[in-house]
Amino acid sequence: MDLKTPIENLYLVGPARAKILKKLGVQTLGDLLYYFPRAHQDLTKITFVKDLRPGEFSNIKTRVLEIKSFRTKVRKLTLTQALVEDDTGSLLCMWFNQPYLNKVIRPHETFLFSGKAVIEKNKLMLQNPIYEQEKTEQVHTARLVPIYPLTSQITQKQLRHIIKTYLDKSTIPEYIPEYILKSEKLLDEDAAVKSFHFPPDQSSLKRSKNRLAFDEIFVTQVRVLQNKKRLQKQSVVPISDDSRLASKLASLPFQLTSSQQQALDEITTDLREPYPANRLLEGDVGSGKTIVAALSVWLMAKHGLQAAILAPTEILAAQHYNNLLKFFADDGVVASLYTSQIQKINGYAMSRQSILNSLADGSSKIAFGTHALLEKKIKFKNLSLVVIDEQHRFGVEQRSVLKNLHNTHLLTMSATPIPRTLALTLYGDLDISMLKELPAGRQAIWTKIGTEENRSQAYEFIKKQTQAGRQAFVICPRVEESDKLGVKSATAEYKKLAYEVFPQLTVGLLHGKLKASEKEAVMQAFKDNEINILVASSVVEVGVDVPNATIMMIEGSERFGLAQLHQFRGRVGRSSHKSYCFLFTTDPENPRLQALIESQNGFDLAEKDLQIRGLGDLYGTEQSGYNFRIATLSNLEMVQRSRTLAEQLLASDPSLSNYPLLKQKIEAQPEVHLE
Ligand code: ADP
Ligand code: MG
Repeated sequence: MDLKTPIENLYLVGPARAKILKKLGVQTLGDLLYYFPRAHQDLTKITFVKDLRPGEFSNIKTRVLEIKSFRTKVRKLTLTQALVEDDTGSLLCMWFNQPYLNKVIRPHETFLFSGKAVIEKNKLMLQNPIYEQEKTEQVHTARLVPIYPLTSQITQKQLRHIIKTYLDKSTIPEYIPEYILKSEKLLDEDAAVKSFHFPPDQSSLKRSKNRLAFDEIFVTQVRVLQNKKRLQKQSVVPISDDSRLASKLASLPFQLTSSQQQALDEITTDLREPYPANRLLEGDVGSGKTIVAALSVWLMAKHGLQAAILAPTEILAAQHYNNLLKFFADDGVVASLYTSQIQKINGYAMSRQSILNSLADGSSKIAFGTHALLEKKIKFKNLSLVVIDEQHRFGVEQRSVLKNLHNTHLLTMSATPIPRTLALTLYGDLDISMLKELPAGRQAIWTKIGTEENRSQAYEFIKKQTQAGRQAFVICPRVEESDKLGVKSATAEYKKLAYEVFPQLTVGLLHGKLKASEKEAVMQAFKDNEINILVASSVVEVGVDVPNATIMMIEGSERFGLAQLHQFRGRVGRSSHKSYCFLFTTDPENPRLQALIESQNGFDLAEKDLQIRGLGDLYGTEQSGYNFRIATLSNLEMVQRSRTLAEQLLASDPSLSNYPLLKQKIEAQPEVHLE
């Protein structure tokens, strides 16, 4: 028997229970021993019978005087009653429908009972108490008792018994170098795992948690640092000359903000290296990430290298393409768009095959598209930089194509700020550039709750703004009317606005179910101000850039997440025109909406979101399959310390040849991608 033994082979488990345990993710003995309690119930204190109080949960240690089972006349239940006593008094314990108990709990023996004291027929008794015979080590009572996350098919007592039995039979091997355990004053693995389940006292529990938290963080550190080193073994053609960048910058209609300039400097430094970089460009909605990316890929193209810009949706890919076409074409850089439905080179529609040819022979220097561009069947001559826009919007499957990247710089962009501890752990192999300010001249977006009472006022306001030449978005939670809850759908709202509310204006409709070419046409018409009001589903959430739009009206706004609402609002306020956001809702007190009214700053809002939703949910660490079960990532000190230790370890033993068990643990950890 070792940690890899399948649980169905364990004597106490067997096939039926194995099925239940597998549902909990427990496949092997190792999984079982690492199936940690979610909490401990403190039953350490033993109360004398005379001190029991009704309503309180207590532990008693008593001799069993007599026990009997009988059926009640009225409700036909089996009752088991035990009369028990300690030196201070006697008491009844009572159980329903557990007739076998009078074979388990026998007179003259000493038992511990834990349960809530109740008064029935004027008598104090324990109802359905947990029972356990006195032993040298109690498992279920009179200690810190582990409480496991469970399904209803197995009881705490059953699982506790199984885990305890196999913990006692096993020795869990150590995998962290001895010198680290010493310097960090950590428990060894065997002791930590055992006492995390069955701690002798609170302070041992704390020490074992500390050790296991260290494990999680340390293993992650070693892995991300190894990833980083692996990149340094790959190669890309370094750029040698960026003197042309200055004149390109001078031709822009605006000056870069100082953070944009700094981010660009950091990226060009990466591009001068002969090995690939993995950088995250973080910046709030509207901070101007696109131009930084555009300048970076332009620089590659000018060195004869290919680059790709990936967006999470075809709309966004097409928008980037149309916006940046001139930027590239102005000095002869050939850019193509390749999505499932639209293929263009230098703005002209082309056959699929001619795009594929131009990527393969290197005549297309920049490719725009979705993740599909990275599928293996698409060949590039010398793809050297991949930019991923709105990285947090890519699904797990979409992200998995990144595995196909070799010898390529990766620049990901996201508006979601990453807390420092996460940046150092899960994303510790990334270099980060941050856009700290918005371009000058942006005004705060006037944000208010909208209700049915002021709806017509809001429509009147939209009319006035459009007469002044501005444009508006109306976002609906659904595409089509599909429920009876009165949730606004984009298609129904479009009809209402186009024919009833604004018959004299041009209203457009955009949602994910349109064909790509239709989406592109609608977006282009909105961009060209041929559409005054764009009714849309959440497809416009990310990246849509129409600076002339000044009104963002969100229907059913309580149905969206905070980050998503912030993204919606970020579609306006992209020029010097004053902009407005109306949050229509039936729930004006909603904390997310209130947070949005109070702050315009994505970093503050992310902080708020973190408080409302918690780290795992917000950063998708749970969905990604890897999950810090014990470590709290707010422990910056532990994160930093373990990073230093991981660096030292890899410096002395890069392939971990002296620590095969550590190596195994790292390889077993699933990949995590940035959310
Ligand atoms: P995001 O970071 O949300 O992707 P964008 O890159 O779409 O933001 O930029 C938002 C808008 O700001 C765009 O219209 C862009 O042209 C403009 N912009 C970007 N940088 C600057 C700047 N330095 N000064 C003025 N406007 C800028
Ligand atoms: Mg963007």
